[in-house]
Amino acid sequence: MNFNLTNLYIVGQKMKKSIVIALAMMGISACSNQNVLTEEVATYSPPKNIIMVVGDGMGPAYITAYRYYRDNLNTASVEQTVFDRNLVGASSTYPALVSGYVTDSAAGATALSTGVKSYNGAIGVDVNKKPVETVLEFAKKQGKKTGVVVTSQINHATPASYLSHNESRQNYNEIADSYFDEKLNGLFKMDVMLGGGWKYFLRDDRQLVNEFKSSGFQYIDKYQQLETITPNQPVIGLFADVGLPWALDDEIPYRLSVMTKAAINQLDNENGFFLLVEASQVDWGGHNNDIVAAMGEMDDLAKALEYFEQYVKNNPDTLVVVTADHSTGGLTIGANGIYEWKPETLRIMKHTPKFIADKLTEAAITPESTRLLFNFDLTDEELTALRTVKEGGFEEAEDMGNPYKDKDASKVNKELYKAIKHIADQRTNTGWTSSAHTAIDVPVFAFGSHSEEFIGLNNNIDIANKIFTLLGK
Ligand code: MG
Ligand code: ZN
Repeated sequence: MNFNLTNLYIVGQKMKKSIVIALAMMGISACSNQNVLTEEVATYSPPKNIIMVVGDGMGPAYITAYRYYRDNLNTASVEQTVFDRNLVGASSTYPALVSGYVTDSAAGATALSTGVKSYNGAIGVDVNKKPVETVLEFAKKQGKKTGVVVTSQINHATPASYLSHNESRQNYNEIADSYFDEKLNGLFKMDVMLGGGWKYFLRDDRQLVNEFKSSGFQYIDKYQQLETITPNQPVIGLFADVGLPWALDDEIPYRLSVMTKAAINQLDNENGFFLLVEASQVDWGGHNNDIVAAMGEMDDLAKALEYFEQYVKNNPDTLVVVTADHSTGGLTIGANGIYEWKPETLRIMKHTPKFIADKLTEAAITPESTRLLFNFDLTDEELTALRTVKEGGFEEAEDMGNPYKDKDASKVNKELYKAIKHIADQRTNTGWTSSAHTAIDVPVFAFGSHSEEFIGLNNNIDIANKIFTLLGK
């Protein structure tokens, strides 16, 4: 489908108009003050299922980069991606005034989940630190099933802003506790939670996993178990200590689509569901200025979105909204004063720079060892650069004596990581302006039932407010 905003808008308006005309033909008033009301009532067949997708840190440059990264070189044209064909608009991201114009993920997600702008760090609370109802909570009260599927720990800022209320995102244990302790009308808020987080849910002071289990949840800790979840029983699935491994390095490719499929199988029911999905680590790629890892995360998300497209085809009463909470890293494609962005290197790499750095911290840096890890031949210059970094680090270690050896290995690792990312940036002409977030607007994608509501420039809080309206609030 060749997407055109104006056309889609006109189709939406025409549908409304034809319903009003049909009502008029049936003798039902569609004039004067009744007009608006009648139209509203007539068109009100809300989506049964809502899937809210957040690409954390996924500013517009990531969408563009992903298109060229995925370009099929055997065709003359640049192919559209799942993002391109579902683009409907944009969204501002600024938090409450007290935090200026650059948001963090907590205030960003709180805006998307509650329709209220708050301060950076806020989890589901307003500027006065008062809890605000989230769309997930409201959906649950309407009798829908609810879930979160993320690639960070499940109590990280974005999912927490849908499930919890806390004055600070840093209170990880409190937030994890609240998932068990805070109930809605005596019931758990969620039916499915998938992501990372052993560190917070299997603690010495509190064994939340056991508490969930004795309250009727099933617990899984391996991806393979996603295929054998017991239907109609709530599930908590934790697959890593904190966040999941980078998509590129993970044991199953496309973990986000595997997790979301399992979640939707579990959530599908006659009253519908609300599911939050987060590609959490696009943001981490941005913070690390790591284009290799970031494209891996984008690919993981794209596969999940392609699955949602199929799901919506079979279940047209489902709405999917996709956006970002902010952009990260100030990603630029085409840097260094050169009129070229060359993703070829990214397409052939099979491991992240972090993975390669970990290996080369131990292994000797040779043409052979690096060819295996990078999946291409390094130039002599690149080899020398890596060796210099490594030898520099180890010389220092000898000067400092053995007690500092371990500490220094981690320094070598850090420097190697930097040098490997530099190779990727130089080969592709990728640029970065920040190790943190930027204030630019982010794209909005939507498809399925009522997706036309999201056309145009949204304020981030509009997205939650529109979802509340569709849920009947
Ligand atoms: Mg996040
Ligand atoms: Zn971030």
